[in-house]
Amino acid sequence: MVFSFIIGRHKADLIYTRVMNHSDLPIYWTDPEIGLIKTRIVEILPISPSEQENGRECFLVLENSPFFPGGGGQPADRGTIAGFEIGGISRVDNLIGHRITGGENLAGGEEVECTVDMDFRRDSRQQHTGQHLISAALAEYGIATVSVHLGNEYCGIEVDAVDVENRIIDRVLSRSDEWIQEDRPVRSRYLSQKEVEELPLRRPSKKKVEGGTGPVRVVDIEDVDVTGCGGVHLSRTGQLRFILFEGAERIRGRIRLKWIIGDRAVTRARSASDRQDRLNRLLSCEDSEVVERAGSILEELKVCRTSLIDSEQEMGRLYGEKISLDSENPVLQIGGGMERLNAAADAAACRGASSVFFVGGTTPNGDFPWILYRRNPDPNFFSRFKETVFESTGGKGGGNPPVWRGRIIDAKKALSAVRNLLTDT
Ligand SMILES: [Zn+2]
Repeated sequence: MVFSFIIGRHKADLIYTRVMNHSDLPIYWTDPEIGLIKTRIVEILPISPSEQENGRECFLVLENSPFFPGGGGQPADRGTIAGFEIGGISRVDNLIGHRITGGENLAGGEEVECTVDMDFRRDSRQQHTGQHLISAALAEYGIATVSVHLGNEYCGIEVDAVDVENRIIDRVLSRSDEWIQEDRPVRSRYLSQKEVEELPLRRPSKKKVEGGTGPVRVVDIEDVDVTGCGGVHLSRTGQLRFILFEGAERIRGRIRLKWIIGDRAVTRARSASDRQDRLNRLLSCEDSEVVERAGSILEELKVCRTSLIDSEQEMGRLYGEKISLDSENPVLQIGGGMERLNAAADAAACRGASSVFFVGGTTPNGDFPWILYRRNPDPNFFSRFKETVFESTGGKGGGNPPVWRGRIIDAKKALSAVRNLLTDT
């Protein structure tokens, strides 16, 4: 048997399929719950040297592949063939090739065991079937789905609109919830082009099946959605569990709606609930009060910060004034951060000090901030400072006359070295 189905990929129009007869249907359509089968290698196709990533890759073509090759925004399955991990699934000369690394000992005609990553497939089926429900609900408001992206983080649905109101999102969510609770069956049918044309498809067929009369795959979610689709679905909507809305982003002048679907949504909701609980205990309040409480704490914090900066500057001024009275000792460790150091250097300069060096308090990195002021320094002053202080005390910094700033590791050594430098020159 050769591969007799064709799956249109990444098309906004009807994803169609031609089958020679129904017994040729791929197993991922007929039995998507089956994750372990034995089948034969039909062919091993070489990969051209320029496309090789490590020189040992090839494509395996299987007689009856259980792996969905991807399409319509739904990613390809993952899994192993004869123990080799599949690195990607591609169409090669109209055949479906499973890329593997190694496998030099495999041969055409050989029977191999294929294992589908069923966790990945379950998630993929949930995302894709959930997307059908959401697109159907959006269609009730005249909002058409333009493209779909099923990513690792979220299911993105690009719609033919520049904006979607919150009330519509709410309605779409409750409509989807209803359909999930009703546990509606999801079925596939294989119809002739003529039969398809008579169906009220959500996504109209824009493209005739090439040259023929072969059946087209139509997926029905009972009394919810009828659309042409080549993807892999859940068998009932109840398996979707839950859908969350994650926000929207602009894309190509339209809007992309982001959804968290299925087990992902349950995990997300549980972790949100756990986070909420921790926040409530941290802020000593109920769910409904958290936002207001956090807002007022931030407001208080802002006031405290302003007041702290005022105090720091005031303290710096006092140190600056004090040091300006003692020309014998122009260095001082005064604690605090740059606010305090700046104010101290300013005040000392205003009081006529010729040189001062202040060191602040220890930072979370374990070093200390410093500031240096030197009135009318000679051109080599800061070079001498660097030589004397940085090399012996592990410091760094820079600036422009008359002020320089930086960090120092050994505060005590630095104070002594700078005192000698400033009183010697
Ligand atoms: Zn589908």
